[in-house]
Amino acid sequence: MQNDAITALNASWVAPVVPRQQLWADFSVVMHQDRIIDLISTKDLAEKYPHADCVDLSGHLLIPGLVNLHTHAAMSLMRGRADDLPLQDWLQKNIWPLENQVMSAEFVKDGTLLACAEMLRGGVTCFNDMYFFPESAAKAAIEVHMRASLGILAIESHSAYGMDALDYLNKGLATRDALRDESLISFCLAPHAPYSVSNQTLERIALYAAELDLPVHIHLHEAIDEIEQSLQQYQVRPLKRLQHLGLVDPHLVAVHAVHLNTEEIELLSEHGAHVAHCPTSNLKLANGLCDVGALLKAGVNVGLGSDGSASNNRLDILAEMRLGALLAKFKQNDAGVINVHQALEMATLNGAKALGLDQKIGSLEIGKKADIVAVNLNTLELSPCYHPLSHLTYSAGRENVNHVWVDGVQVLQHGQLLHIDQDALIKSTQHWFEIIKRDSAC
Ligand SMILES: [Zn+2]
Repeated sequence: MQNDAITALNASWVAPVVPRQQLWADFSVVMHQDRIIDLISTKDLAEKYPHADCVDLSGHLLIPGLVNLHTHAAMSLMRGRADDLPLQDWLQKNIWPLENQVMSAEFVKDGTLLACAEMLRGGVTCFNDMYFFPESAAKAAIEVHMRASLGILAIESHSAYGMDALDYLNKGLATRDALRDESLISFCLAPHAPYSVSNQTLERIALYAAELDLPVHIHLHEAIDEIEQSLQQYQVRPLKRLQHLGLVDPHLVAVHAVHLNTEEIELLSEHGAHVAHCPTSNLKLANGLCDVGALLKAGVNVGLGSDGSASNNRLDILAEMRLGALLAKFKQNDAGVINVHQALEMATLNGAKALGLDQKIGSLEIGKKADIVAVNLNTLELSPCYHPLSHLTYSAGRENVNHVWVDGVQVLQHGQLLHIDQDALIKSTQHWFEIIKRDSAC
C-alpha cells in the first residue's frame, strides 16, 4: 500500500490545528510513506520537492482526520431499530435483548465494516470503540485501513462474548497482546457504566490503567437516573465513586458528562480527565445538555463522539461539531463561548489527546501520521467562502468530504471508498437486516 514517492497535497487552505487558530492559504502538505514530512507554501513546493507527486486540491480545505471519541461501531446494524425511547427503556428493553439474540464475532465484524465505511466517507479517520468482540472490530478496521482505539470491555452481565467482567477483561487484554504490532490499532479500558460495573471490577481496571498506561473510557453522568441510583446504592454520585476507586486521573475519558456540578467540573479539570461529548445522542435520548462552555473555561479537554448508530443515528463527526458548537453557545447564553477553531480542535486534537494518541495524530504537523481529510468548499451551497473554517463548522456537511488519507494511504478518492467492497458490504448488511427483522419479537 505504501511506496517511496513523496506526495504533495496542494490545497487552497490548510487548517493545521497546531499551531492553534491558524489557517494557511495556498499551502501544501507533503507526505512520505505514513508521515507528514513538510507543510509549505505551494509557491515554494517545486523548488524544494521537484519530484513530488502533486494532487491538485484547489477549492479544498485540508484538516486533520476527524476523531470519533465514542462509538459502538457494530451497532450500525441496529440503526433505526429502537427510536424515541428514554435511555433505560431503549437499553434494557430493546438493545440488550436484541444484542443477546444476534451477538457474534461475525456480527461485530460486519457491523464495524459498515460503520467504518460511513465514518471514512465523513472524514473520520480514527474511532474509539466500546463493544463486544473487539478482535472482530480490529479485523474490520485493519481491512479498510482505518485507525481504531478498541475498548477492552468490562460489564458484569454475560453475553456471547464473555461470562463476566473478569472474562471480558482477560479476553480484551489477550486481544491487545495479539495485536500489539498493528500500527493502526490501539486500546483503552472500557468499563461500560457505573451502574453496570462493580467496585471490584473498577478497582481492577484502575490498576490495569496505571500499569499499562491505558485510557479508561466509560459512560459517566449520562442521565439523572444513573446519579440517583448511585446515591442510593453507594451514597455518592458516580464521579465521586470513581475517584474513591482511583479512576479520576488523566486516563479517564468520561463519556457524556451531561450532569456535572461545579465541583465535579473542577475535579475533572484538576485531575486532567477528558470528556467525550456526544450531543446528538444526549438530545435523542433526552438526557440533557453537556455544558461544554463551562468545561472548556475550566480547562477540561473535550472531544466529540457520535455514540452508536442506534442512539444517534449517524456516525457523523462534522454534524456533531456543528451541533456541539451551537449547543455550547445556547447552554452558556454566549455566542462567543466557542469559536470555529475550537470546534475543529474538539473534533480532532482533543479526541487524540484523550486517547493518548496526540503525538501521532490530531493535527497536521511535521512528523505526525498522515491522517488527512480534504473537504471540497467549491460548491454552490458553500459559495461565497469568506472563511473556510466557518463553512466547515456551520455550513458544510460530510457530503463535502472528497478525499481521505489514513497513515499515508488514500482510502477515499472523490467520495469513493478505495479499500471496501461495497457490494459485499451491502450483501452482509442485508443478511443481518433479515435476521434482526425476523427476530424482532424481542
Ligand atoms: Zn455509548
